[in-house]
Amino acid sequence: MNILIAEDEPSLRENLQWMLEMEGYTVSVACDGLEAFHLACLSPPDLVLTDVMMPMMDGYGLIKSLRETSATATVPIIMLTAKGDRSDVRIAMNLGADDYLTKPYHREELLEAIRARLARSASLEQSAQGLQQEAKEAQQRDALTALPGRELFTRRLDDSLQAAERNRHGLGVVCLGLDGFAKVNDSLGAQVGDKVLCEVAKRLDEYMQTHQFSIGYDSVARLGSDLFAVRLGNAVNLATLEITACDLMAVLAQPYKLDDHTLFLTACAGASLFPGQASTAHALLLNAESALHHAKPCGPGSVKVFDIAMNQQVARRLLIHNALHSALEQGELEVFYQPQASVSTGMLVGFEALLRWKHHTLGWVSPAEFIPVAEESGLIVRIGEWAMRTAARQAAQWYAQGHGNFRMAVNLSVRQFVSNNLPTLVQSVLSETGLPAHMLELEVTESLALHSVASTLGTLNACKALGVKLAMDDFGTGYSSLAYLKRYPLDSLKIDQAFVRNITQDAGDAAITRAIVAMAHSFGMSVIAEGVETVEQLEFLHALGCEEFQGYLFSKPVPAAEAERCFSGFMLPTVPILSTQ
Ligand code: C2E
Ligand code: MG
Ligand code: MG
Repeated sequence: MNILIAEDEPSLRENLQWMLEMEGYTVSVACDGLEAFHLACLSPPDLVLTDVMMPMMDGYGLIKSLRETSATATVPIIMLTAKGDRSDVRIAMNLGADDYLTKPYHREELLEAIRARLARSASLEQSAQGLQQEAKEAQQRDALTALPGRELFTRRLDDSLQAAERNRHGLGVVCLGLDGFAKVNDSLGAQVGDKVLCEVAKRLDEYMQTHQFSIGYDSVARLGSDLFAVRLGNAVNLATLEITACDLMAVLAQPYKLDDHTLFLTACAGASLFPGQASTAHALLLNAESALHHAKPCGPGSVKVFDIAMNQQVARRLLIHNALHSALEQGELEVFYQPQASVSTGMLVGFEALLRWKHHTLGWVSPAEFIPVAEESGLIVRIGEWAMRTAARQAAQWYAQGHGNFRMAVNLSVRQFVSNNLPTLVQSVLSETGLPAHMLELEVTESLALHSVASTLGTLNACKALGVKLAMDDFGTGYSSLAYLKRYPLDSLKIDQAFVRNITQDAGDAAITRAIVAMAHSFGMSVIAEGVETVEQLEFLHALGCEEFQGYLFSKPVPAAEAERCFSGFMLPTVPILSTQ
């Protein structure tokens, strides 16, 4: 502890210094108030002892200056005054002195006063720090549920991680994301949504308080709108981690009784374990989130435990995302064409335009990989527009060369429906290229049904009014709903290759395909089968009354120059003429 003495009387000063140093204090001395003030500013002491009457600056001046300077504003100050001068004391105390002693003072009396002041100042400091910490933590808590936010949770996680390391224990994190929470907010309002979130917080907290893997308080956090995390300790292992994740999901799947609503919600979970899968709190949490990210597409109520391949997938996705930005400008994208033929005659009826991407270092990247990334980033709008224009230009060129009536099908992403004026784009592509409208087909997917029916119906009708054809792609895999099928102005259904693949062996797939064909016909639509690879599949489709097909049996998607040869019947001999059977 540093004590600064301001005393102009040398013998008193030395005596004081000697006495305090004997007690183990570090002492600095000044002969007047000004010198003391300079010393205090240079290195703020823990306590100041000051005389009243001094040259240059007296004790009052010193107290006033110390109190007005932020670095010394709270330093304890003890005045040493002449005996019996009460007015000295009052002035000094008013200026901010903490205590006073009258000369001559006893040694014990002085030391006692010093100890008391230092102890008081230490406890004030401590409580100020505590308040500061509390205020900081309050800021790091979620205002709605009072649960820790990401920063505070990570800090707690870090503490328990160090303890787990010392005790050679496992530590786990489970991230939970509610399924379809946005719908609750949209349909019932944010107030109901907030109540659900509070109830989720309460259930997770209660579960943790009664659970064997619970470790102290703050083991539940809210990381984002409907994203929660739970910290599990006490020797959790891979098996118990997954079981606990399932337990937590079951807790959240209980009905939510809110005012006059009873809601049924599910959650997905992602889990990660220390030390096997991460060595820091940050990585542990990120891995659990990554696992949740992988669980979500598997459907409501899914759970995944982290594995290292997940991060590689994320890294690859990021790479694709970044490279895709320049793919269009660099001319790395190309459109391939897969011919479509009549099942009964084997004659060419059209093409499907399919994007291909050859990156200068990654090589060929499959559309199954880059299209979802393009959709996520919104880039699909520009890319899809380019693909439509390129395919229409190609078709118009073939048409101009005298290659009769055929269809050019292009794939449309749902994003193109929502973010763009699609009918205007189609109209301008048709007039730019001169392609007759009925030769262009737009392939839409069932995920359209997830968006506002009124607006998609309006867009589809507007496209239809331009004279283009509309097909429902990958039919049977998505959110099939007979209601929208009846209302959408579709010309044809494309049976997904997943059904076609097993059509000759799997009675279920055969039955579904038969039902799809019958239903399409009853709505006045034609049917085209995708992914036909064998003659047996083709014969089966023929028997069901499916009109058209595309698939490797006829041709893979090929570059324009190769596709053009289909017009001359170059590839037709591989297709058996079934109509004669
Ligand atoms: P899709 O529209 O269902 O296209 C059919 C996919 O099946 C194509 O895959 C095609 O190469 C493949 N295929 C065709 N015949 C056979 C076969 O006999 N056997 C097998 N195993 N596969 C066959 P691809 O070219 O990899 O495209 C995948 C998906 O990427 C497409 O599925 C489509 O959803 C999307 N896509 C491709 N180009 C575009 C585009 O320009 N815009 C949008 N939005 N999506 C596109
Ligand atoms: Mg398609
Ligand atoms: Mg398809």
